[in-house]
Amino acid sequence: MLKIAYSEIFRYSVPEKHRFPMQKYTMIPERLLAEGIITQANFFAPKKLSEEEILTTHTTEYWHKLKTQTLTAKEARPIGFEMTPTLVDRGRYIAHATYECALYAQQYGVAMNVAGGTHHAFADHGEGFCVFNDVCIASNLLLARGQAKKILVVDLDVHQGNGNASIMADEPRVFVFSMHGAKNYPFRKQISDLDIELATDMEDTEYLQILADTLPRLITEFAPDIIFYQSAVDVLATDKLGKLALSQEGCKARDEYVLRHAKAANIPVAIVMGGGYSEDIEDVVEAHCNTFRLAQQIFFDEASSNSN
Ligand SMILES: [Zn+2]
Repeated sequence: MLKIAYSEIFRYSVPEKHRFPMQKYTMIPERLLAEGIITQANFFAPKKLSEEEILTTHTTEYWHKLKTQTLTAKEARPIGFEMTPTLVDRGRYIAHATYECALYAQQYGVAMNVAGGTHHAFADHGEGFCVFNDVCIASNLLLARGQAKKILVVDLDVHQGNGNASIMADEPRVFVFSMHGAKNYPFRKQISDLDIELATDMEDTEYLQILADTLPRLITEFAPDIIFYQSAVDVLATDKLGKLALSQEGCKARDEYVLRHAKAANIPVAIVMGGGYSEDIEDVVEAHCNTFRLAQQIFFDEASSNSN
């Protein structure tokens, strides 16, 4: 069964001026349910990350400031949200959800977080709407608990996962692959295990070719036992922040490529959402829903029809 992490706290509303479209967290599950792609049984309510789990990845000082709400204005500003206890809690649920998705992916082949992909959070600070780094925390927990030995991060958000690159810089068991806009935030990039910088206004064909030239080789050479896939939809031409020019079909083809390769290689894939900032929220929701539809189709519908 396609397990999907979802919690009421994901819906936390932030003022309009933050530009972060929180409505998508409500709209994605509602649409998938309405279409009958999934039922309530697909959802699971994630647990909350413990302090001990946070400290596998984040510094004691940063966590203390979050916990006591004592980030200075200068420290809080790059995050882009006004810090509240609820927002910190929200981040804890989201990060634990990503870890639980990894465990479900090991069981079912794939699992998805309706949120997550907070790849701009560093060990000692947050930025770019990211408080905790969910994929790094989940990776550190899997490694520490003997639940994975080699982890591949496939980050196809249009923004570089600078937090992932920084946190995993000295961790050879986690390979961070990021494909992102060369001329996009973060303007001072970190060094991932593999960074591919994309030209502004790149379209479907060229983008998909680069992915096809890279991903199969990475999977063969690194031989991960799990993949975290950040399936952000800020690669769309309609995105206000993205600077690339993928169509809805191109974005869907990207997801299909990643999912089919992971499945063919028999590597579990845990999917996190990442960004999406199209003017029309409909473009964001539709593109994210495609990822869920594909996961259901490729890992479950096709698999059962083949065995019949
Ligand atoms: Zn992004």
